[in-house]
Amino acid sequence: MALRDKFGRAITDLRVSITDRCNYRCVYCRTGSEGPQYADLKLDEYLRIVQVFVDLGIEKVRVTGGEPLLRKGVVEFVSELAQLRTKSAKPLDIAITTNGHLLADLAQPLKDAGLNRITVSMDAVDAEKFARITRVNNGFERVLAGIRAARRCGLDPVKVNCVLLRGFNDDQIVEFGKFARDEGVIVRFIEFMPLEEDRVWSPQVVVTLDEIVSALSAWKPVRQLPPNTASETARRYTFADGIGEIGIIAPVSHPFCGHCSRIRLTSDGKIRTCLFSLLDHDLYRVMQDGGDEGAMSAYIRAVVEQKEARHHIGESGFVPPSRSMVHIGG
Ligand code: SAM
Repeated sequence: MALRDKFGRAITDLRVSITDRCNYRCVYCRTGSEGPQYADLKLDEYLRIVQVFVDLGIEKVRVTGGEPLLRKGVVEFVSELAQLRTKSAKPLDIAITTNGHLLADLAQPLKDAGLNRITVSMDAVDAEKFARITRVNNGFERVLAGIRAARRCGLDPVKVNCVLLRGFNDDQIVEFGKFARDEGVIVRFIEFMPLEEDRVWSPQVVVTLDEIVSALSAWKPVRQLPPNTASETARRYTFADGIGEIGIIAPVSHPFCGHCSRIRLTSDGKIRTCLFSLLDHDLYRVMQDGGDEGAMSAYIRAVVEQKEARHHIGESGFVPPSRSMVHIGG
């Protein structure tokens, strides 16, 4: 039986963080200095865990971090993932989310290893603004080269994620509209969520879906596209001439918890049932204590039962999650 939580949501997407180290220090995610890190598992330990999830009906795996391309052996890891078969004997759908800094050299090897999809995070299409947000110099050109390399080797579509912060990069909306059209990538704006290390979130900083749509429409009219799947988190738009796709992921202004299909494994082997969970579930401990596939599978089922109904962003009494995004895996 497929994994289902107590609200009837089918859990089909697993996000696996393979390190919580990151070479960027984005202002909306991290503090300016190196914080504490959790111990990574060995890559074959993640594989063993993923296999158990796949046997339980997981169909998509997104490799993330921290910055997953920092992890030595990531190409071989993807190649091993590509050997796993879902219940219907289909290959797993394998995606990566990366900041793109190391992508130019890795795009082709990752594609050859069996990677199906890639999302690159990029929060400005202007080198100076990019450096201000990431707190890394000369990153912009590298990320751009990474995006282009991914396109060239046929990773299609390439998605580009942008988190907008009022007063920081909200002047980039139209620039990203142009970028989507010129570069042939899907740009996805993500509303800023309270998941950062520095606790700088406030509702006033969030640039909402409605604002993004109005800014784009004031430049060129947009029309909405139908969702690709029932559990799709992004609302999709294109321009009147059909050129360019923009997605908007609006967990703050238009939450989509009711059809959440996700579960996460942190780099230290803990299950997170929601980005905003107040606790982790130690699957790695079950494995270390000698638990076989049956024991791990029973543990996962019990944990999925506890998946939260929804997040409580913006409500009075909101309690920040027990881990920040970089230590969860986005
Ligand atoms: N290092 C990789 C990257 O940059 O894509 C993967 C990990 S990163 C945590 C995954 C995604 O989460 C990125 O697109 C990032 O912009 C997004 N993100 C991080 N903190 C966020 C926040 N507080 N609200 C919304 N999105 C956030």
